[in-house]
Amino acid sequence: MTGKTDIAPILRVALATPLRRLFDYRAPAECAVPIAPGMRVRVPFGRQRLIGVVMETALRSELPEDKLKAVIEPLDDRPIFDRALLGLLDWAAGYYHHPIGEVLAAALPKGLRLGASLTAMEERWRLTAAGRAAHASGEPRRAPRQRQLLAALSDAELSAEALEDRLGPWREAGRALRARGWIASAEKPLAPLPQHPLPPQRPPQAGPALNEEQRQATERICQSLEAFGAFVLQGVTGSGKTEVYLRVTEQVLAKGRSALILVPEIGLTPQLVGRFRERFAVGMAVLHSALTDQERLSGWREAFSGAARIVLGTRSAVFAPLPRLGVIIVDEEHDASFKQHEGGFRYSARDLAVVRAQRAAVPVVLGSATPAFETLHNVEAGRYARLPLTRRAVQAAAPRISLIDLRANAHHAGLSTPAVQAIERHLGAGGQALVFLNRRGYAPTLLCTACGWIAPCTACDARLTVHLAAARLRCHHCGADAQLPERCPQCGFPVKTVGQGTERIEETLSGLFPDLPCVRLDRDVVRHRGDMEEAMRRIASGEGRILVGTQMVTKGHDFPNVTLVVVLNADQGLFSTDFRAPERLAQTIVQVAGRAGRGERPGEVLIQTEFPAHPLLASLLAEGYEGFARTALRERSDASWPPFSRLAAVRDSAATAEAALAFLTEARALADPPRGVRLLGPAPAAMAKRAGRYHAQLLVESPERALLHRFLDAWLPRVESLPSARRVRWALDVDPIELF
Ligand code: ADP
Ligand code: ZN
Ligand code: ZN
Repeated sequence: MTGKTDIAPILRVALATPLRRLFDYRAPAECAVPIAPGMRVRVPFGRQRLIGVVMETALRSELPEDKLKAVIEPLDDRPIFDRALLGLLDWAAGYYHHPIGEVLAAALPKGLRLGASLTAMEERWRLTAAGRAAHASGEPRRAPRQRQLLAALSDAELSAEALEDRLGPWREAGRALRARGWIASAEKPLAPLPQHPLPPQRPPQAGPALNEEQRQATERICQSLEAFGAFVLQGVTGSGKTEVYLRVTEQVLAKGRSALILVPEIGLTPQLVGRFRERFAVGMAVLHSALTDQERLSGWREAFSGAARIVLGTRSAVFAPLPRLGVIIVDEEHDASFKQHEGGFRYSARDLAVVRAQRAAVPVVLGSATPAFETLHNVEAGRYARLPLTRRAVQAAAPRISLIDLRANAHHAGLSTPAVQAIERHLGAGGQALVFLNRRGYAPTLLCTACGWIAPCTACDARLTVHLAAARLRCHHCGADAQLPERCPQCGFPVKTVGQGTERIEETLSGLFPDLPCVRLDRDVVRHRGDMEEAMRRIASGEGRILVGTQMVTKGHDFPNVTLVVVLNADQGLFSTDFRAPERLAQTIVQVAGRAGRGERPGEVLIQTEFPAHPLLASLLAEGYEGFARTALRERSDASWPPFSRLAAVRDSAATAEAALAFLTEARALADPPRGVRLLGPAPAAMAKRAGRYHAQLLVESPERALLHRFLDAWLPRVESLPSARRVRWALDVDPIELF
């Protein structure tokens, strides 16, 4: 239908600019379908043409008639964001105080931001009339390749892919024929053609019979599939959380709805994807950061079209379109990777998942062995329901945890005598041992004992880490990389490595247990797709008996034969300035401990520390994670830290420390906080210099969320208009989870 759209002639468009407002345009005079909110449009903007999303339509504009420009063209024939998703994004723009245009851009794969079509297109080739005549007369005689191509197209139009399959490389011949006007191509929507049959819809595979707790959890969640409910599925790794996710998903699919499953950056393992694929014969899209732009676009399209009934993805998948969303599941909900803490739009995918579920009136399941303290607080307050899985699905006994006092026990190269003896004992009994150290590389320090020189990073307030096997010195903060010197650059004396990283621990253990191979798991050895699988294979087959790893071992993997876990240094988390450090320490210890004794054998966990009497460690050992959380939450309440208050951080960086502080000082001077809103700072970041820039932050705190947000709404536009705002890089972080 072609006609004038005179119902709502003004379109309010969100554009990816830093300006916090919508832009008014006239609807185009001729338009096949009325332009509705959620559709992309191409518009003139200054001298550029930009692609934006229509947020609302209106009868008139504040702008004078002659200032109003018309939309150049719509890019979609239906909304790319449905009402629910558009509403969520609008809400997020308000909550995180970020321009809506940039929020929408963050929610779309690059291809769609640049104007790709909503549906998958393919390039299809056909003969022209002239080409048909040429083919009939056996042309072109001298070019057999071109003749083959004409022949291939003589009975059917074919996709570029099909031509590749039949003829191998054909592009050159194709170009020659097109130049002669004998063949032509067009982009056409990719329909599910007979060549691409949909997989047969088999019923879901049966899972194991659920234990009582799993059954209750599944039932509770599924009782309210038509309404919002937030459920905290709390159970250690191996307690059968994934099995509950699968059962809930099964019921959601049976209702004709779809499921969104969010996992941490590193938790998206082939095993997890495999379990969903095995169980369900429905379309599934997997979205994560390692995809190419094209892969991300196709995953998004599968979700959008409804072809994918399950979407499994990392952080930004919280914005995936799902036509009939039935449940959102957030696995390892405490994981820091759900918070985007780079760039302009800093959001928490976990928190947005809850908001999205609420707006869509569907349940959200937050799974973890160590729920975030905020989440536990929400349980206490009755906003979330706790569904405990206290037993391991396969084996019942929880591991025994004890401390090794590093001051009272001899230790060599970071390993205490009792730890080495325990490793020996467990390996002797046929088990595997996991040694955890949250520091990769060989040693954190390179030192000259003659003059006191320490290898520094020139771009950061940090030391360079020794990577011995690679013979490099590397900065773990900015990536600086230099050759490892043998002698002190200052005085020529031979240098010495001090302290331990995983590389050195592996060396020490290989020396102590020469016949028992070590497998190391950290970012230096797991760099490519497949590295992790290879390491997991060596561990599963028993070829590797000792496992040395960083944080990487705490995420989502199954080591059924590990009977001993040794945590080498728990002390970094005990004395941090960040009020969340104890929470993270407890999560790490519990998560690592959870790797022990998952098979038939009971597990043992040893934690090396110089502070065995520290109240945090004592409470963790005596009362477990939840007792620890209660103690730590009381401390936060006394200090009025979140969740007992709300925080926002304005962070900036500049070429000099003075410039970084100056902007925040001016920003603070502009503020006229009402009672109940406090500004703290500005102060240089704990590591002020990083990658050659100086970082600082200003905190805004209030016991009341509404108060904080009203203040930010009034204050930010003024901060933005400061001339110094253009001399630094700055961003607002609402609900920051790391304080520098
Ligand atoms: P989590 O997600 O909490 O780590 P999983 O769901 O992966 O736990 O369960 C751990 C292991 O136990 C898996 O191999 C799973 O197949 C198995 N499992 C889970 N639930 C049951 C059950 N009710 N009966 C038997 N095996 C189960
Ligand atoms: Zn020296
Ligand atoms: Zn550096």
